[in-house]
Amino acid sequence: MDIIELLRREFNPRQVIVDETSLTAYATDESGEGPYYPRAAFLAQSPLEVEKLLRLASMEGFAVTPRGLGTGKSGGALPVCGGVVLAMDGMKRILEIDEDSSLAIVEPGIITQTLQQAVWEHRLFYPPDPASLDTCSLGGNVAENAGGPRAFRYGVTREYVLGMEAVTMGGKRFNLGRKSIKGVSGYDLTGLLTGSEGTLAVFTKLIMRLIPRHREPGIVLAFYADLASAARAVTALLSSSVHPMALELIDGYSLKNITGIEGFAPPAEAGGAILCEMEGLPDDDALLERLADILEGGDPLHIDVAMDPSACRRLWTARRNVSTRLKENHRYKISEDIAVPRAAIPAAVAQVQEIARRHGLHMGCYGHAGDGNLHVNFVTDDDGARKNFAMAVEELFVTTIRLGGTLSGEHGIGISKKRFMALEHDPNSLDMMHAIKKAWDPQNLLNPGKIL
Ligand SMILES: Cc1cc2nc3c(=O)[nH]c(=O)nc-3n(C[C@H](O)[C@H](O)[C@H](O)COP(=O)(O)OP(=O)(O)OC[C@H]3O[C@@H](n4cnc5c(N)ncnc54)[C@H](O)[C@@H]3O)c2cc1C
Repeated sequence: MDIIELLRREFNPRQVIVDETSLTAYATDESGEGPYYPRAAFLAQSPLEVEKLLRLASMEGFAVTPRGLGTGKSGGALPVCGGVVLAMDGMKRILEIDEDSSLAIVEPGIITQTLQQAVWEHRLFYPPDPASLDTCSLGGNVAENAGGPRAFRYGVTREYVLGMEAVTMGGKRFNLGRKSIKGVSGYDLTGLLTGSEGTLAVFTKLIMRLIPRHREPGIVLAFYADLASAARAVTALLSSSVHPMALELIDGYSLKNITGIEGFAPPAEAGGAILCEMEGLPDDDALLERLADILEGGDPLHIDVAMDPSACRRLWTARRNVSTRLKENHRYKISEDIAVPRAAIPAAVAQVQEIARRHGLHMGCYGHAGDGNLHVNFVTDDDGARKNFAMAVEELFVTTIRLGGTLSGEHGIGISKKRFMALEHDPNSLDMMHAIKKAWDPQNLLNPGKIL
């Protein structure tokens, strides 16, 4: 039977989207890939509906692509094989906040910031903070194992997923993981599904670990003449006894692109900056002095300090808008998110700059330096130079792997990076990944065409 007819017969037709204009929203994401149109989108409201859809898909042989809020940067939510997009953003309830056990049980479509704000009211904190936190879903974060600036201090999403309810292709529902912080009981299937990019199962409920609220943070922002000096200051900070919540590196080109946002005004000659956020800084002069000493070792042009919540929020707004501004200010942009061992940051920065120069491209390089995670954005307004994107990206990945790094620190592989997987993984590892995919989804119908 035709997919659309089947869906309309089995579900409330109002939850089945089929007209091309509305489907446009499901044909793209923030990766710049596509558009890839599905036959239909299904707006799920309950785990039972997810089960039923995946049972029908297996019986009728159509592909299903889970989708959160479509902010993914590697094309994970794009229906490259057509079929049905399973929109999870309607399942967004907080089911429980357990203050005594410091955990929350939620549906996967909840916006990450909504969860953060809700648990804060209970004197608890959910740390993962992707720059997209007000527009992305927790389910998407778990599927991509999302990071963010504060991953440096608190770790990435994986560290906060205690357990989940998940449904596999065919409609089998699993309860995985636990509510306790510790647990060594059988294979860690929760860990396997975290970061699996919606290719093994669909999450319908998530059990998330929370921690106590942190003290008020302050920010020190140091500007340097060039990116290499800023990168060296990062290395000095990393080997000191100071432990920031976030340690971000921003290159001169990115600084220029965000100038003016919320009054952000870097020195005109700045070629790089470090943003260092520290808990308790407003009440600790000795800590501020120690931090300033370390940063001054790199001979900064200027140091700014933000000690009250609104000044900190303004700086974070500017930092979080780097990617958006680079996109708005250029006709063409391609962004990657490599990660290298921390000690290799200065070498990575130098080599990435050289790649951009060789290919006649501008580059905005910024990111979570504390984790060695750099967002490398090649941008241009020139049709000719745009043709060099593919070569520049390939050289970027070869360089990254040589430095002991990885293709993606937090955005995942999706469709954008899958052709480079063999650069990083040996053939036996890739065979094992294929075998895992086959065990969970033997018909290759759940988010096909991704990662492998
Ligand atoms: C401006 C901007 C800044 C960003 N900054 C960061 C950052 O700092 N750190 C970071 O890590 N990422 C960042 N991202 C990338 C993106 O926001 C994250 O990857 C996010 O986790 C995606 O969530 P989403 O709800 O939009 O998921 P989608 O894009 O809808 O989907 C992403 C993947 O998750 C799968 N998926 C979604 N829901 C489910 C579910 N319920 N069950 C199973 N699989 C599911 C999809 O199939 C897909 O493979 C940024 C993106 C933008 C646009």
